[in-house]
Amino acid sequence: MNSATDAAPLTPAPGPTLFGQPRGLATLFLTEMWERFTYYGIQAVLILFMVAAVSRGGLGLDDKTSSSIFGLFLGSTYLLGLLGGWIADRLLGAQRAVISGGILIAAGSVLLAIGNHAIFFLGLLVNAMGVGLLKPNVSAIVASLYPEGGARRDAGFSIFYMGINIGGALGSFFVPLCAAAFGWRVGFALPALFMTLGVAQFLWTRSYLGAAGLQPAHERRGSWTPVVVFLAAVAVIVILALTRIVTLDAAVLVRAASWGYGLLALAYFVYLLFFAGLTAAERKRALVMVALFVASATFWAGYYQQGGSFNLFAERYTDRHIFGWEMPAGVLQAVNPFFVITLAGVFAALWIALGKRGRDPVASTKFGVALIFLGLGFLVMYFAAQHVLAGQLVLPTWLVLTYFLHTCGELCLSPVGLSYMSKLAPQRFVGQAMGVWFLSLALGGNLAGVLTGQYDASHLESLPGLFLKIFWYGVIVGAVMLLLTPLVKKLMAGVH
Ligand code: GLN
Repeated sequence: MNSATDAAPLTPAPGPTLFGQPRGLATLFLTEMWERFTYYGIQAVLILFMVAAVSRGGLGLDDKTSSSIFGLFLGSTYLLGLLGGWIADRLLGAQRAVISGGILIAAGSVLLAIGNHAIFFLGLLVNAMGVGLLKPNVSAIVASLYPEGGARRDAGFSIFYMGINIGGALGSFFVPLCAAAFGWRVGFALPALFMTLGVAQFLWTRSYLGAAGLQPAHERRGSWTPVVVFLAAVAVIVILALTRIVTLDAAVLVRAASWGYGLLALAYFVYLLFFAGLTAAERKRALVMVALFVASATFWAGYYQQGGSFNLFAERYTDRHIFGWEMPAGVLQAVNPFFVITLAGVFAALWIALGKRGRDPVASTKFGVALIFLGLGFLVMYFAAQHVLAGQLVLPTWLVLTYFLHTCGELCLSPVGLSYMSKLAPQRFVGQAMGVWFLSLALGGNLAGVLTGQYDASHLESLPGLFLKIFWYGVIVGAVMLLLTPLVKKLMAGVH
């Protein structure tokens, strides 16, 4: 994937194999599958639970607050990925980080299942910390199962990406189904149960991982002090909020967080470009990283409408009756991972075929195309929302078509994004490339909540307005990426 490991000796790690892949891949596949089950399962019901009236077992929050909390949750899972990566690298090693992350996710989900308002928000926080510890590090262990790098590792990652999406599909399907049949609490209990099984499975089969991710990767050990300071600060804020000494306004927080993430990225790039002592060639590639960062954040802000405005759209404006059965709204979120599973092979074959002709598109082209697919998906939703405005319920086919287009976009951007970032970053900054990628996801996830909050059910014209706006964001940023391609080719000289 990145040039550092491509240069490593071409000997696969010894140990048992399964279908030609290291046996440890199955361990990681199942761990990530259950983790994504919880992540997307929770997302499929989160906003609907928050807006549902108290009489229907929900939290009875208004749309704007719920959208903001949804964005804060998504953004923080990815932001905490930066801390989670650091903790694994400097303190715990990736394996122990994954175990601790899994335990936190399971514990957080128990809090979601049992809690009143306050406990519920605490559950989201604990959950986000768990995702931050688990998600980046489980991928890091996948990478280190293949010290030889190359095509076998790429194949390993493709299989792993299937695990992500099988988990996403199962969670999006069963959690809303259980919530509808047995109540929200049972819905939230499902992630707790399966994450526990996921962790048990990891512990049971951990020996297959050998030394991969066992020790912190960095020779220089870190200190626990920053982690303790961070946790203490979080604890103080939680206590102040619980005792109502300060009132936190989610809508204000989510906007502040967007600025915070944006400024963090800006500060990092200013440092990288002007103060990190880069050579002229390295600086050119770092400029490409900036463009990819903007494109990626824009993409995820649209993509993560699935758990936000699309979920509300499915609940409120979609006729979900199939043969007399009313499908729970969140289930529609399973369409995206389902399409990923069915289409990933097609896209992989396309890149290989283009590659053979020497025409594998450069990063900016793939990102540009991804954004145009994203925009087209929103154009479909714009027309769907016009029907809603005319007072009709619409068929689920609108959302299905949009998810199809979004999945095509995802397959151009998501599987290659991290590897591009690591190739573009100067060798000594490769570790930070993962951070940049996660920061783009954090910003995108957070913005997804801000955008959903712009839909106002009492002014229904805001719905097509929102979708049209995201359509323009997608096609404009996408077109700029495509126009930048000749320049990017020059700037990237030597990177493939
Ligand atoms: N659905 C994929 C995942 O959850 C892609 C999104 C992402 O990279 N976060 O991993």
